[in-house]
Amino acid sequence: MHVGTVNIPIAYDHPDASHNTCSTARAWAKRPREPEAGEKPELIARIKRMLKEQDAVLVAHYYVHPDLQDLAEATGGIVSDSLDMANFGNRHPAKTIVVAGVRFMGETAKILNPEKRVLMPDLEAECSLDLGCPADDFSAFCDAHPDHTVVVYANTSAAVKARADWMVTSSIALPIVEHLKVRGEKILWAPDRHLGGYIQDRTGAEMLLWQGSCIVHDEYKAQELLELKAQYPDAQVLVHPESPRAVVKLADSVGSTSQLIKAAQSSPAKHFIVATDNGILHKMRTLCPDKIFLEAPTAGKGANCKSCSHCPWMAMNGLVNLAEVLASGKNEIHIDPHIIPRAVQPIRRMLDFAKQIKLPSTGIGNA
Ligand code: SF4
Repeated sequence: MHVGTVNIPIAYDHPDASHNTCSTARAWAKRPREPEAGEKPELIARIKRMLKEQDAVLVAHYYVHPDLQDLAEATGGIVSDSLDMANFGNRHPAKTIVVAGVRFMGETAKILNPEKRVLMPDLEAECSLDLGCPADDFSAFCDAHPDHTVVVYANTSAAVKARADWMVTSSIALPIVEHLKVRGEKILWAPDRHLGGYIQDRTGAEMLLWQGSCIVHDEYKAQELLELKAQYPDAQVLVHPESPRAVVKLADSVGSTSQLIKAAQSSPAKHFIVATDNGILHKMRTLCPDKIFLEAPTAGKGANCKSCSHCPWMAMNGLVNLAEVLASGKNEIHIDPHIIPRAVQPIRRMLDFAKQIKLPSTGIGNA
């Protein structure tokens, strides 16, 4: 039986909400300076030197600036989804993990590697899903539904993870929810309502959905996507399931960042319309140089997205502030040591499950 969504009074509901308008505006204003072309080689060389001197490894998300993605790979780090980022940091012998992404990714790295130093170019790089799911409100929601298994998406704070039974990523959410459904469990899902709805549609599981959303994916528009498809009738549409249901319905492939990249690689199509943060296009174009990737439209008639298919918080990562952080040692992630033992449990549960079903890459969030 499906259970309808519930309305929860939360601080964040839409990009129009004043709290988040402030947050996104601050994020855009805090974007690091783009280095001059002539300055870049010295800056990159300096970062490489500091990474080596400090026994540090750079792990970057697909949505951050291409310079950081390339630098991570050139220095023995990784560009990937955030669980692979955290797993990589866990396995890598480096004493310091530098996370180019958003805060919950740095926190996940720290939860899995509490003995290591975790740095980020900007600790104010947030996420609308994380912001829209405050730990106290979420805890009250869980208390009100004690007979439900609590499943949270990776895009949450350490405190919210500490309240959960399972953490999931977009590529493993389906098999985990299916597994819970077979066991007869009812699910309380947070925070992304679109991803939760997609999982609910696919599995038929009984789910209560927290009403959060991603400010980037929430703005993709089905009507404008149809119009773009009409211009490129042979195009394959790749959609991240944080997008609205009407957009997901138009997809040829739905999946996490890693799964969408694989879909682009394996499809014989020439054109692709991509409904996820445009930072991913760098990796898609690098891996598939003969294919053409188009951004799915966000600028519908009612659109108010300021990010134009790019996350304002991911955009807070750059070469300049990365160099500053390595030079100063500031922006270290700290998590209340009382929270870590509880927050690590739902993550480890997911990792063990992934190992059992031999999932090659878990793909955290669209993140
Ligand atoms: S793109 Fe990712 S990090 Fe940015 S707001 Fe959306 S879910 Fe959060």
